[in-house]
Parts: sequence; structure tokens; C-alpha cells
Amino acid sequence: MGVNFKETKMPLPKIENCGEYKDRKIIHICEVCRKCEVLTPRAGYEKGWDFSPYMYPFKVVSPRICNECTIEKTVYWQIAVNHKSFSDLTDMQKETIKRIYGEPESILANE
Ligand SMILES: [Zn+2]
Repeated sequence: MGVNFKETKMPLPKIENCGEYKDRKIIHICEVCRKCEVLTPRAGYEKGWDFSPYMYPFKVVSPRICNECTIEKTVYWQIAVNHKSFSDLTDMQKETIKRIYGEPESILANE
């Protein structure tokens, strides 16, 4: 008899996380202040973005923020720390959740 734990921790930030998207332009949208920049994953990371796919896998609810905003304001924090349900979220937070579930298509820039 064994117990199989499912690996749930986030991968470390690295370019390999980006796979086939590593050279694609990603629309980096800050879920807190709505700042928007179109950058490759590496360029976004180097500019201080906390974003997918460099920092977090696509479709996983985790922060999507610029270098000036803080994690306490993210929808991830509302759910994971403040235990809010979807119906408790603001319209902007619901929009963020939908955008995360729609990744990568929802954040790919057309080139
Ligand atoms: Zn921001």
C-alpha cells in the first residue's frame, strides 16, 4: 500500500518553463493596476513582471502582476489566503480568472 502525493508546488522561474512559448510575445497585463506591456517571457521577467509562463504555468491561478504591484492585491491572494469564492470577487478579479483559464491564447500577442 502506498500513498502517491501529487506534485503541487510551483516550478522555479526559468526559461525552460516557457517551452514552445519562449520566443513568443506575451501580453503582460497587470491584474492590479492594468499596466500592459508586450514582451517575451524572459524580457518580462527581467523587467520585474510576476507572470506566466516564466514564473507560473499557464491556467494555474497565481499572480499576474507588474513590478510595482504586490501579491496581496492579486486574485490569487483573495482565493488562497482570504478564502474568497468566485462570487465574492470583483468584476475585474473575475476577468483575471477567466483570462488565466484562457491561457495561453488569452495573452498571446498577434505578430
Ligand atoms: Zn501593476
